[in-house]
Amino acid sequence: MTTLLTGAAVLGGEPRDLAIEGDALVDPSAIDRDRAEVIDASGLIALPGLVDLHAHLRQPGGEQAETVASGVRAAAAGGFTCVFAMANTNPVADTPAVVEQVHRLGLEAGLATVRPIGAVTVGLAGERLADMTMLARSAARVTVFSDDGHCVHDAELMRRALEHAAALDAVVAQHAQDPALTRGAVMHEGPLSAELGLGGWPSVAEASIVARDAMLAELAGARLHVCHVSTAETVEVVRAAKARGVRITAEVAPHHLLLTEELVRSYDARFKVNPPLRTDADVRALREALADGTIDIVATDHAPHAPEAKLTAFADAAFGMVGLETALSVVQMACVETGLMDWAGVARAMSTTPAAIGREPGYDAPLEIGAPAHVVLVDPAARAVVEERHLRGRSANSPYLGRELPGRVLHVWHAGRRTLADGRIVTEEVGR
Ligand SMILES: [Zn+2]
Repeated sequence: MTTLLTGAAVLGGEPRDLAIEGDALVDPSAIDRDRAEVIDASGLIALPGLVDLHAHLRQPGGEQAETVASGVRAAAAGGFTCVFAMANTNPVADTPAVVEQVHRLGLEAGLATVRPIGAVTVGLAGERLADMTMLARSAARVTVFSDDGHCVHDAELMRRALEHAAALDAVVAQHAQDPALTRGAVMHEGPLSAELGLGGWPSVAEASIVARDAMLAELAGARLHVCHVSTAETVEVVRAAKARGVRITAEVAPHHLLLTEELVRSYDARFKVNPPLRTDADVRALREALADGTIDIVATDHAPHAPEAKLTAFADAAFGMVGLETALSVVQMACVETGLMDWAGVARAMSTTPAAIGREPGYDAPLEIGAPAHVVLVDPAARAVVEERHLRGRSANSPYLGRELPGRVLHVWHAGRRTLADGRIVTEEVGR
């Protein structure tokens, strides 16, 4: 079975044809066009399959909020073909049994590659290291370690984790949050938190941990990845560390590129997230840092919650937002339509670079002949209001409900297999 995509703006460039045969991209001039399924892709942007280095798929233990199967449906709908699943499940992904379970659930679900992230510390308790070598050597082939949701606060443990990771060619992804500086914190610390009477989460609680970790990574010769950078101060710390050659990469979540703390005035818990929504100045600094490469990637921090976790007072509600299905639209709005980034830059930030950080093969030559056929077709001119009934995941705690966003993911192929067709999930093998 051959599929011919005609006239797609590949990485936003001049229109040309793409051809998919089996699991790979092939030369469109070398195929039998009469036998190919033809999809008119004129007006559409072709991007490589998106890779999310930071998603919470909640299984095992949180199936009321999300499962691996529902999570990959949301992923496919958002243009993702590979999702790294965070370790803060119940039980925690700190043993080969749990990471292999998540890996197996991903294979069963299809639609996207699911790569389990291993915990840094046993039970995410921050007291002793998980057996990182066992996790790396398991069938799940763990390459990213994180206690996300918790900060690895003990500097000695963090140093040793980085040393182990270096030996495994793995990366430690840190949720940078000084716990002592953020007790009772539920929103950004500043005049607005004082006005609203809510506990404040100061920028320094993030930047200070990143500064320390950058020095520890330098000492260990290890790769450090900073989860969800949210402040201008942290951008400066990452910039300085990169300038002196530290092996540091950083991500920003889509919501931090678009939304500010002003939304918390509503006391609507959909806007409660960790790290919190910050100021206009932070949003500007994050956009510019992503555009200039100081921040390497966009990662969703997709964090589904059952309704009861959010239908409570702001101070008591769970932290987190779903984001897989809206990530590309938010990046289009915040970075492409503002002229800061082109589509090739989006492909780097949402596919090539996250795959490289996570050591996921097959994404290093996006949309080139011979590469695995991870392909996304996006209609950048479409605009739609985000509605709960459109979301494919199990939870609807989206901060964008009722808001119009640009761009629509229409078609997705994962290793040559169609996973999204005209915006609909394809649950069966098509044409094979
Ligand atoms: Zn986190």
